[in-house]
Amino acid sequence: MAERLEADALVVGGGIVGASAALALRRRGLSVVVLERDLCGSRSSGVNYGGVRRQGRAFGQLPLAQRAHRIWQDLPALLGTDGEYVRSGHLKLARTADDMAKLERYRDGAQPYGLALELLGPDELRRRYPWLGAGLAGASLCPDDGQANPRLVSPAFARAAAAAGAVIREREAVLQVEHGSAGFVATTASGLTVRAPNLLNCAGAWAGPLAARFGDAVPLTQGHPAMAVTEPLPFFLPLSLGMEGGDVYCRQVARGNVVLGGGRVEPGALGVDAIRSTTGAILAQMRRIATLIPRLEHAQIIRTWSGIEGYLPDRQPVICASPRTPGLFHGFGFSGAGFEVGPAAGAVLAELVADGATATPIAAFDLRRFAQGAAVAAPSAAGSLADSPADSPRIAKGVH
Ligand SMILES: Cc1cc2nc3c(=O)[nH]c(=O)nc-3n(C[C@H](O)[C@H](O)[C@H](O)COP(=O)(O)OP(=O)(O)OC[C@H]3O[C@@H](n4cnc5c(N)ncnc54)[C@H](O)[C@@H]3O)c2cc1C
Repeated sequence: MAERLEADALVVGGGIVGASAALALRRRGLSVVVLERDLCGSRSSGVNYGGVRRQGRAFGQLPLAQRAHRIWQDLPALLGTDGEYVRSGHLKLARTADDMAKLERYRDGAQPYGLALELLGPDELRRRYPWLGAGLAGASLCPDDGQANPRLVSPAFARAAAAAGAVIREREAVLQVEHGSAGFVATTASGLTVRAPNLLNCAGAWAGPLAARFGDAVPLTQGHPAMAVTEPLPFFLPLSLGMEGGDVYCRQVARGNVVLGGGRVEPGALGVDAIRSTTGAILAQMRRIATLIPRLEHAQIIRTWSGIEGYLPDRQPVICASPRTPGLFHGFGFSGAGFEVGPAAGAVLAELVADGATATPIAAFDLRRFAQGAAVAAPSAAGSLADSPADSPRIAKGVH
């Protein structure tokens, strides 16, 4: 007989957002089932660059980012591991005077949010960081931003949720969700059904079809950053490095490897599930990084990869209750920010479920911002996933 589970809340997706929501819900005393198609934290949440920065985030996202910043500090108590999280500082470099003016404007705008950014002119920059290449116009330093190991942190959120009593089921792809007077009933590929009055859509880059099945269509697209890591090198890079304009970024882990990002790759014939960095993307990345940090010119790349980010046109996430379906909550589309803000997004989602409200400002993340003017794909006919990644499972909304 097919297995059936019941809970106060069903979370679809065991990335950092879904897992942290599950943990926060358990801490509120609600029963939770998490259904994860692969392994918890194996997608974006586990393969990202590992930047835990607030600098550069849109001002509207800074209250959420600041809440996350406080959670990151408590990681050992929350998860039983620090996930190699260090407040190393994040240095954003400017190539031109125009870029420097942008950093100055950002510093002024971010001041009310408590970011404490320090602008460095070219001489001070060279004095502090002599390993930088020539010709930079300056930089902005956020001393309390940091970095962490996503392969440790994101699965640890799921393990902590399980330890707190959440039922976590991996290798369970949700194929169908029905909604009626008894709440939501989700059915997975293995035949497992889960019934719950609350459903959290934390399916990352695959969240669009599930939202659309309940009339909450949003213009969610996918992107694939090119990532690489070098052989271990003598330690020289004490902070995480980015560029105004964002074309390249890097950090060095304590073991000496330099993690590099920048540029995008397109899925090949095998689709997004087999996405990898391409030689062209990595060579372009290496050329840019060698100009910035000449000592990396001959560094050996030992591994390359990519992942699947979910983007909305304004690069801000969707975090809200469904305007149409009671008990449905969305938390997806975090673009390049979800590792840092993910723990706070999970906490906010748990508050929306348990209290119906949150003190963290999230009005900017309401999906109704796409209701007019944006190219929102209309909910397609049942079973059709025209607006989804090629490898998405089918999610069909049932009838009452
Ligand atoms: C290469 C790369 C670099 C990045 N760098 C950074 C960075 O430095 N800093 C930063 O803050 N952010 C970064 N990001 C972004 C960040 O990783 C994401 O925003 C964040 O991980 C999103 O978390 P999530 O839980 O929403 O999504 P995911 O981690 O994608 O989790 C969603 C989960 O839902 C599951 N799922 C989907 N559909 C179903 C279904 N039907 N049934 C069951 N399960 C389902 C998926 O298998 C997946 O595990 C980067 C992303 C990538 C790819």
